Amino acid sequence: MCGIYGYVGDQQAVDFLIDGLRRLEYRGYDSAGVAIMRPNRSINVVKRGKHKSSIKLLSKVLTNSENPGSLGIGHTRWATHGAISEVNAHPHTDPENNVAIVHNGIVENYLEIRSDLKSKGFNFVSETDSELIACLIAHEIKQGKNLFESVMNLKNCIRGNSSVIAVSVNNPKEIIGIRLGNAGGIVIGLENNSGYVSSDVSALLPNTNKITYVENGELVRLSSSSYSIYDFSGKKINRDLQKIEIDDYDIDKGNFKHHMIKEIYEQPHAIQSSFSGRVNFHSRVVDFEELTESTINIKNFNRIVLTGMGTSLNSAIYGAQIFEKMLGVQSSAENSSELRYRDPVFDEKTLLIAITQSGETADTLSAIGHFKKKSCSVISVIETLGTQASRISDCTISIRAGKEVGVAATKTLTSTMSTLFQLALYFASTHNKSSSEFLHNALNDISLLPSVISKILDSEGHIKRLAENISHSSNLLYLGRGINIATALEGALKMKEVAYIHAEGYAAGEMKHGVNALLGPDMPTVMIVPDDHLYEKNLGTINEVKARGSRTLIITDSEAEEIKELADDIIVVPRINNELSPIIFMIPLQLLAYHTACQLGLDPDRPRNLAKTVTVE
Ligand code: GLU
Repeated sequence: MCGIYGYVGDQQAVDFLIDGLRRLEYRGYDSAGVAIMRPNRSINVVKRGKHKSSIKLLSKVLTNSENPGSLGIGHTRWATHGAISEVNAHPHTDPENNVAIVHNGIVENYLEIRSDLKSKGFNFVSETDSELIACLIAHEIKQGKNLFESVMNLKNCIRGNSSVIAVSVNNPKEIIGIRLGNAGGIVIGLENNSGYVSSDVSALLPNTNKITYVENGELVRLSSSSYSIYDFSGKKINRDLQKIEIDDYDIDKGNFKHHMIKEIYEQPHAIQSSFSGRVNFHSRVVDFEELTESTINIKNFNRIVLTGMGTSLNSAIYGAQIFEKMLGVQSSAENSSELRYRDPVFDEKTLLIAITQSGETADTLSAIGHFKKKSCSVISVIETLGTQASRISDCTISIRAGKEVGVAATKTLTSTMSTLFQLALYFASTHNKSSSEFLHNALNDISLLPSVISKILDSEGHIKRLAENISHSSNLLYLGRGINIATALEGALKMKEVAYIHAEGYAAGEMKHGVNALLGPDMPTVMIVPDDHLYEKNLGTINEVKARGSRTLIITDSEAEEIKELADDIIVVPRINNELSPIIFMIPLQLLAYHTACQLGLDPDRPRNLAKTVTVE
């Protein structure tokens, strides 16, 4: 996952590297480091490890005067091979310090390469797979190749998905990058005698908005005044810089203590933006320009498969129920990492909807690639346009939530759900599956979402008090039914991610088939109880849970007195309709997880062992 950044220009590299790494920190924060080419053509490596504030620590020790040089590379790590430590932090060099690299991805055959390099006399200081890459390049240079040729040679040696940028004392004015598979993007930019390279466009934006991407199977050669992109046969590819219009990346927390809570509060606005240009509330029309321009016609499909990982998978589970109900087309949700290795019976009548807010999730990208080969049509639902997912899909739909920095997804989830709901409405209207009255009511309902969410945010104080109780728990069960199974799964996931409390989401109907054995005073439950056709069944479950001694926190949109009397604790939210209730229930669940984390003294923006963008399998 990690973030890689490079600068080559006529200015000192240090400040660019630190700023770039700060902007990439959401991708990994296990450790950080830079390698700067000194004017005397030697490589100066400075790292800070095993600390969540490693970039801050780096910035304190890195001064321009003591670290001169106008070419440098930097890295913020999410460890896969080797402990979280300073020695395992990137950049890595060869033993003679002639080559430095930063790496995003995994070298799958690293044991084989390690023993091969050992037999050639190399010794290693770290436990990482990445150090081997520096040694492989240095070995090739020793054999007489230049840096570009030596980096190109990686394609013959390493297996798995990797993106690498490399520098060498033999070539002190150039950065060479290579992209092997879906380990995360490489984007480059040029401006004012400076070349920039990064994993993510947001890190380039303060300095340039003239950028281009390096694709899978390509290399880049970057200097202060030019760049060239090549394929693996060495053929030059003509690809112009494009000017992108994205607002500067806002990493400011404003008046909020954490990005997570700021982003929870941004949801009314984010959902409103997901409507913009798509839903005309006056003429009662839903339109997806992206789809009208593509070749995707919903009438051609007899099966819809939604895929994603983590929170995106939970939104896929929600979306599958919405699509099946509104379109009457068989719809299901699948975990991308499973889907890509299965051989399901998909064909040109299967529509794959791939959800990845970053547009870079390795498993989801692989699933897209795999099913494109089976002639499936693919729509990717993403936040960041221009990323790999949009480049390999037939059509891309942006959720328009705005950049999310907090590692635990909040606004990108609800914006995705709102977008999927609109997409289902759009397909239903083009497929003549919905009456104008249905559309009228559905649009009326969806228009209420922003104000209803704002209203729930007003009750943050109550949820914060409930979090105090929850923070004493070691285990939690989240129960839901029907369309709110996704809600239960996501509520539990959020709690695990930021508060490190063991939490499981279950379909309430499963309880009697095993899970009831866990009930008792040490197993509080969080129950999602909409005022729908399953309301009475849920009351039955609450009684059964209570009879076995578990405390119940009920999240409901019912105003009934009986449920208030039954609940040990309760959060009542406004009701819109059943299909939109999961979006509404998500808000108290997010606040509950956030405040529990804060209560436990944890940093919800940087949960341990996690990173925002999962570019490794
Ligand atoms: N495999 C490398 C490491 O463990 C890079 C991991 C990443 O892409 O975050 O350091």
